[in-house]
Amino acid sequence: MSERLLQIFQDSYRELRPRAPVPDLAVEFFAFANINNTIRLREGKLFVRLSDLLEGAPEEVLRAIAHILLAKMYRKPIERGFATRYRRYISGQDITRKAHVVRQMRGRKRIESAQGRTYNLETIFEELNQRFFFGLLARPQMTWSRDHAKNRLGHYDPAHNAIVVSRVFDHPRVPSYAVEYIVYHEMLHLKHPVKLRGSRRCVHSSDFQAEEKLFPHLNQAKAFLKHL
Ligand SMILES: [Zn+2]
Repeated sequence: MSERLLQIFQDSYRELRPRAPVPDLAVEFFAFANINNTIRLREGKLFVRLSDLLEGAPEEVLRAIAHILLAKMYRKPIERGFATRYRRYISGQDITRKAHVVRQMRGRKRIESAQGRTYNLETIFEELNQRFFFGLLARPQMTWSRDHAKNRLGHYDPAHNAIVVSRVFDHPRVPSYAVEYIVYHEMLHLKHPVKLRGSRRCVHSSDFQAEEKLFPHLNQAKAFLKHL
């Protein structure tokens, strides 16, 4: 652990709690999948983990994050100047780009498997690709979600180039046309990319909608999904 970093946290602690003795501190950089910083108090000792994306950060940014973490820990108000400084730094172009690359590399473990208990998403993708796209769509990673969320049926995750389908649908009582429809919908998103499409936003142009109507069990699928 760098002496300098430790010093920054000790100074910050004294500013925040001038009367309390500074506890033992362990501060380290850690390879999180995102820009993430954590602080924990265990048996009187503070354990701090900073995203290694902050490793080259200027001292004033490290001071800002030290203040923010310690203020959170001890339920003190976060000074606006520190909050702004930190936010500005991590939203800078350089860090945003690094964070994106890091997410792609480290987040890969998150991708589980295309083979579910009932359905195989790769098989479904390939069948639909032949049937509707002349086999021309490049297959991204196909994966069942880790959780059983019902609010998001499926989505395309650009950071991992993956189509993720909610695990709720990997079940014998779910008709195959319903799973196929979810995958087909996401495939149409690959074919009709929308500029600046975030992971949440879901934009359906008129071309998109016209092509969606080609799916033979569209109404049944929608009805099934609605009453799930
Ligand atoms: Zn959509």
